[in-house]
Amino acid sequence: MEIANRAKGIAKVITGRLNELTLPVDPEVRRYMDERWESLPEHLKTDSQVLGRHAVGCEGTHGVFPRCNFACTPCYHSKDANSVRVDGEHTTSEIEKQLSFLRKNRGPKAHIQLIGGEVSLLEPDDHAKALQIMRSYGREPMSFTHGDFDYDYLKKLVLDATGKVRLNRLSFAGHFDTTMRGRKGIVVPKDEKALDPYRKEFADKFKRLKKEHGVRYYLAHNMTVTPRNVDEIPEILANNIKAGYNMFSFQPAAFVGNDKRWKEDYSSLDPDNIWALMEEGAGAHLDYKILQTGDERCNRTAFGFYVFDKWLPVLSSKDQRDIRARDLFYKYLGGINYNTKIWDLLPRLIRVALFHPVTVKEGAKWLMRQVQRSGGTLKVIQAIATKNIVPMTFVMHRFMNAEDVKVAWDLMEQGIDSEEPTIKETQERLRGCFYAMAHPEDGRVVPACVQHSILDPEENIALSQLLPLPRRLNRRDDSVATSGASHD
Ligand code: SF4
Repeated sequence: MEIANRAKGIAKVITGRLNELTLPVDPEVRRYMDERWESLPEHLKTDSQVLGRHAVGCEGTHGVFPRCNFACTPCYHSKDANSVRVDGEHTTSEIEKQLSFLRKNRGPKAHIQLIGGEVSLLEPDDHAKALQIMRSYGREPMSFTHGDFDYDYLKKLVLDATGKVRLNRLSFAGHFDTTMRGRKGIVVPKDEKALDPYRKEFADKFKRLKKEHGVRYYLAHNMTVTPRNVDEIPEILANNIKAGYNMFSFQPAAFVGNDKRWKEDYSSLDPDNIWALMEEGAGAHLDYKILQTGDERCNRTAFGFYVFDKWLPVLSSKDQRDIRARDLFYKYLGGINYNTKIWDLLPRLIRVALFHPVTVKEGAKWLMRQVQRSGGTLKVIQAIATKNIVPMTFVMHRFMNAEDVKVAWDLMEQGIDSEEPTIKETQERLRGCFYAMAHPEDGRVVPACVQHSILDPEENIALSQLLPLPRRLNRRDDSVATSGASHD
């Protein structure tokens, strides 16, 4: 009897552990996704919606290193951001607090942006520690930079004091465009083309890092779009599509941040026109309708890949078979953590395949379609052999004007829905926000638009008192900003 009970106990433990190792979606993830879905406005609960089906959204840091040594026009940071000293201890302790809060309130996995002012102003050790803290909370971090640092910085970032690799993969978003002032060698770029060598040089540093230290990487290219540089989008893409990036992200400028840096009429920027210019540069129709991240008025995303010079979407909204594949993905594979070790992922996928064979059947059909669209088996083999299959995502993210966000958020805080068309749209977009920032001190998460439009100014004033700049640096920043502004 005793032996039988013990055997039962052991069997129960083994079954429980097996279930844990193979359960596709962590129950906690499922709970947070369900909550996110429930919180979405009705018009966003569409078949294509990613929020609540596959993710709870993206996250970003704030108030951790607000200073930047460039002067961009426009800049979404409040004017006091540059009066805050970069301080590694402050950065890492704030990140610890924000990340711990995000973990408790949004679940065990997400993508997060290590963002503030300029990330490379952090000492490499502090930068590395920040990334390690983020990973320890299940986050996949991406560092945001103007890219104006040398190879040595990257090397120090990934290697510890003994020369051992401490970060075996990196994600960086490099910001390059003519709104920026201060890049070494090209303080005031005359046009976007003049920045191409810098775009390439940035990506080359990561290639070298991989070659010399085996560090894998993912690179995004970011560009602020203004009436002055919008028509250069096709040329930027055509010239840089093979530079080493896996994402090109465009942010139409908005009236947010430091109002002294607003130089043009950003309201003239038309999202459809920007998207058409992106398509011209990419040499393909960029299908963003099949997978929607939050509200289409905020985000358009086209996931795909190049086979040689041809861009193909991962899924096409014009093909019913792809729509079925997407629906099956959401149903059986949505919410799985793909950003993990293969031995953690594989048992979960095997379980899905065994319990839902339709996923294998449809997955195989989808793969066949992709091979056909790519030009056939031979072409795909050639592309694989010559490393000419490159994942490539195109994004447009439209921040909102601070004035509208202030009114909309104030009413939302009072529980009032506005009927005024602009404020109504702003409220809807804030409710469907894909990009969140944590405020552990008052127990809430806010959209990044709210952070930059409303909370940043006061936060940076307080930080400039807590972490004042040495006077010498204050003067130098003024002169960079003035030289940039005078050119405009
Ligand atoms: S509400 Fe603002 S921060 Fe959020 S997704 Fe829309 S534009 Fe982005």
